[in-house]
Amino acid sequence: MISVDLPTPTRVLAIGAHPDDIEFGCAATLAKWATAGAVVTLCICTDGGKGTWDAAADTAALVARRQEEQRAAGAVLGVSGVEFLGYVDGELDHSVEARGAVCAVIRRTQPDIVVGHDPWQAYRVHPDHHHAGMLALDGIVAARDPHFFPEQGLKPHRPATLLCFEPGRVDHVENVDGFVDRKIDALLAHRSQWQSTMGIDDAPDEQRRAFAAGLQAEARAQGLRAGLRAAEAFARIDDL
Ligand SMILES: [Zn+2]
Repeated sequence: MISVDLPTPTRVLAIGAHPDDIEFGCAATLAKWATAGAVVTLCICTDGGKGTWDAAADTAALVARRQEEQRAAGAVLGVSGVEFLGYVDGELDHSVEARGAVCAVIRRTQPDIVVGHDPWQAYRVHPDHHHAGMLALDGIVAARDPHFFPEQGLKPHRPATLLCFEPGRVDHVENVDGFVDRKIDALLAHRSQWQSTMGIDDAPDEQRRAFAAGLQAEARAQGLRAGLRAAEAFARIDDL
């Protein structure tokens, strides 16, 4: 049984491993909610400093550039803020320290809905995606209970729902008809990632159109699950 469309949340926190992960996973849904008045915050766990195929790249400059791109993508979606935790790209873990950092973001932003990577997706290649998914879960468990990280001096907070994007199991979809173009525009704001994650390189106009068409096709395919013209798919956990 697949549920369709949660009520528009008041506050949403999306947690991704790298700049651009959130856009791939749930940008159209975030754009829809922001347009409807939700306060949306993005939390990026790593600095994105390995996100290039250029072995000679200045990685400090890349980190700064990717933060700017992430802010620009957030502006396309209408988000209220972007938090960068700054862990080294490729070396994320879900240590107690990192859990505390995510817990603090949850307690500060008080989201009704948290959106993050599915930590149980099988055959996942990038370890940061797995760890960022675990951090969303572990951060929620810590944020809700007062005896976790009391030194933060922040009020405990229990979100109502966790939605996991790129899910191993789909049991929820959000109708994003009319918002897929915003997802495409937000992804294209990550200009440094065109070559490495979007297949846009030596024939940019043609390849950009193909990239956009692929995203539209994916949204249509997910929509078929529930008779919608376009959707994003999630694993849904309410028992938090
Ligand atoms: Zn990533």
